[in-house]
Amino acid sequence: MVEARGVRKSFGHVEVLKGIDLTVAPREVMCIVGPSGSGKSTFLRCINHLERVDAGRLSVNGHLVGYREKGGRLHELRDSEVAAQRREIGMVFQRFNLFPHMTALENVVEAPIQVKGVGKAEARERGAALLERVGLADRMHNYPNQLSGGQQQRVAIARALAMEPMLMLFDEPTSALDPELVGEVLDVMRGLAADGMTMVVVTHEMGFAREVGDTLVFMDDGAVVEAGDPRQVLTDPQHERTRAFLSKVL
Ligand code: ATP
Ligand code: MG
Repeated sequence: MVEARGVRKSFGHVEVLKGIDLTVAPREVMCIVGPSGSGKSTFLRCINHLERVDAGRLSVNGHLVGYREKGGRLHELRDSEVAAQRREIGMVFQRFNLFPHMTALENVVEAPIQVKGVGKAEARERGAALLERVGLADRMHNYPNQLSGGQQQRVAIARALAMEPMLMLFDEPTSALDPELVGEVLDVMRGLAADGMTMVVVTHEMGFAREVGDTLVFMDDGAVVEAGDPRQVLTDPQHERTRAFLSKVL
């Protein structure tokens, strides 16, 4: 579903991704951990067209991100083609970024109606079902400031799912939450994984990584240090840097 080969990215003269090689299979849940500044967010942002890759190949569902290959050369995609690629990918951030002047349901139906041209009645019906799926059937008509952080994050997940993405990216989705609200968001993500969604999750929740992740990736200083079965990486890390990091977070 996602293939990264030698993916590099610099900001100015600072190289932030130094040749990332990773493959995410359909229905796989990949969790990424690593110290602050190691490039985790930048990698997710490259997958979702929020940053442009400088070198290497990055593809989603067999399509190069942002480019078309023709006659052995790369051609940049038009804006409309980029938009079409982005539509296939849902992203959830640490901050929920809901539209404050819209109810939960309005937040969820906005993109399907405006971007996909889904009819209002159908969008509302599907939106209501998604909010029910994330446990918010009774909160549909609340505004974000009437919802807890955990509830807002669940609305954000429902909003991403409303576009029917084939891939979901999560960038520390529970880091901004009070500890007692983390579980309800992880439960929703666990359900998504059980339903077969392909997911890349940057997280500090090692319990989630161990139970739900198919792969655990440890990134440091713009590179993948170690990737493998979460249980194995957590209990028997092969690299000293992984060991040092885990000893701080476990
Ligand atoms: P954290 O755990 O703190 O979220 P991270 O692993 O997600 O860290 P990134 O946000 O990917 O790290 O950042 C990697 C490096 O790239 C950092 O040194 C950061 O300062 C730098 N960086 C990220 N975005 C930009 C930008 N737009 N311009 C310049 N430097 C940037
Ligand atoms: Mg980050």
